[in-house]
Amino acid sequence: MDKNFKYCPRCRTRIIQINRGKELSCEKCGFYYYRNAAPTVAAILVNSKREILLVKRKFPPYKNYWDLPGGFVDDNENLEKALVREVREELNIILDSYGYIGSATDSYPYKGIIYKTIVAVYTSTIEDKITLGDDVVDYCFFPKNNFPNPQFAFPGLAKVVEKYINQNISP
Ligand SMILES: [Zn+2]
Repeated sequence: MDKNFKYCPRCRTRIIQINRGKELSCEKCGFYYYRNAAPTVAAILVNSKREILLVKRKFPPYKNYWDLPGGFVDDNENLEKALVREVREELNIILDSYGYIGSATDSYPYKGIIYKTIVAVYTSTIEDKITLGDDVVDYCFFPKNNFPNPQFAFPGLAKVVEKYINQNISP
């Protein structure tokens, strides 16, 4: 456990770390906190020219870094619903079919707290024309057979993209 939390959120007593920091416990009130990664989704979207869409992040963390379209899974939402919602919000595209590629872990530093995330990556085909929505400042299609080395926000996610390109998986 990093030093994200020092005090019990219920009774404000100093909390103790157990299981090598994976869990936090309060001796006074019995509060118990399991530290699990937050689920996120991302989409490898490929156009008719076999180019992969990357978007440029509009907001921190990693503002102006390249990223795949995607985001955090909401409460009471499954991975597929989160994927469809995020792609709709960011790109005004309604995904109707997609395939699962793989997953990776990353860190998400935000306002002084380092969140651990686990991303589920899917792929789908899209039209060449894009209309940007929320959270995205710019976009670019990068050729799959000559993929550059863009400055990715999340190294775990970048590895899934690299693996996808090297294995030459079709959406
Ligand atoms: Zn407590």
